[in-house]
Amino acid sequence: MTSLFSRRGFLGGGCALCAATLAGCQTTGEALGRLAPGARPVAGGDVASLWESADREERRVRQSRHIIRTPEVTSYISGLVEQLAGPYAKDIRVYIVRTPEFNAGMYPNGMMQVWTGLMLRCANEAQLAAVLGHEIGHYIEQHTVANFRSIRSATDIATFVGMGLAVAAGPGAAVLAQLAIIAAAFSFSRDQEREADAIGLDLIARNGYAPLAAAQVWERMIAERAAEERDRARGEDIFFATHPSSAERAQTLTALAGGRTGEFHTDRYRQALGGLQLTLVEDELRLRRFRRSEWLFERLHADGANPGLMLFARAEVNRLRDFPGDQTRAAEFYRQATAQPGTPPEAWRGLGLIERKRDRQADASAAFRRYLDLKPDAGDRDLIRSYL
Ligand SMILES: [Zn+2]
Repeated sequence: MTSLFSRRGFLGGGCALCAATLAGCQTTGEALGRLAPGARPVAGGDVASLWESADREERRVRQSRHIIRTPEVTSYISGLVEQLAGPYAKDIRVYIVRTPEFNAGMYPNGMMQVWTGLMLRCANEAQLAAVLGHEIGHYIEQHTVANFRSIRSATDIATFVGMGLAVAAGPGAAVLAQLAIIAAAFSFSRDQEREADAIGLDLIARNGYAPLAAAQVWERMIAERAAEERDRARGEDIFFATHPSSAERAQTLTALAGGRTGEFHTDRYRQALGGLQLTLVEDELRLRRFRRSEWLFERLHADGANPGLMLFARAEVNRLRDFPGDQTRAAEFYRQATAQPGTPPEAWRGLGLIERKRDRQADASAAFRRYLDLKPDAGDRDLIRSYL
């Protein structure tokens, strides 16, 4: 088994919960072939016991406080999966896990997890569909099951199935230790990754999406990763630990798209996420991964997604980081944000905090008052009042 953090070519996107190892030491199991829709494993076999573990984990997931239950959002994502999965739709159950990492994954029993960090990062519905299609590809080709045949320890399996919630509970040292096991369990071979990519691309093209969206997802992740290379102080990085890949993948997907056109559904995507987007932005900011976040929000802003929210997000990065020049930039972004429709009231609070820091008390008070007017029941209203 390769060490999780010392692989060559440790860059790029892969699927969710799947670690596509670029260096050697593959431990991929035998190919099982395509799953038939509605199929269940033979009772008593090793596959059946893996399904049972996944079923147990799914019961836990269903109860978890880390699951997003906003009906509009869950029905939108489930609808998307249903459309893509076709005859397999009835075998797949989707859970949106509130964790700011870029990830999604299929468990062998048909549980699909979509992490909110992935949803934040997709610029449109087509990009999200590309990732989901790739995951469906792994599922119907039974790649996970094949890999699990190489893992014998019950503890390792338990760790794997418990991963989604462990990460949602908060990235930390324990999660990093688990990642080594996860990466082993999901060391998909290049062939498996190619197969899943091809299936994913076919599924989105067949459903009218622009096939180029698949390559775009990985290009964006590579660029985001490059932004973080400049502040490597933070070690944890769930996505790149579980999904190493390379620019080659984006190139292959671009070639496979072959100039075919289709829909991106950018507006529909943003509308479907609705109010959840502020939560996703706040969760991302909590990671204090400022260079990456800065790159991400700048990119989403350039995409034209929710200018008010993205200006607010860019302002927050600057305010929280507080490097030389950041306060001025933060104030400027907050001012631009507050001039946009759909900006969260928190933009006024941020503006107040930054002006207070810059000893501009009159501007700070005006901004705080506006915040309290817009959000009279704010959790921090007493604190903000004390600043007036
Ligand atoms: Zn994959």
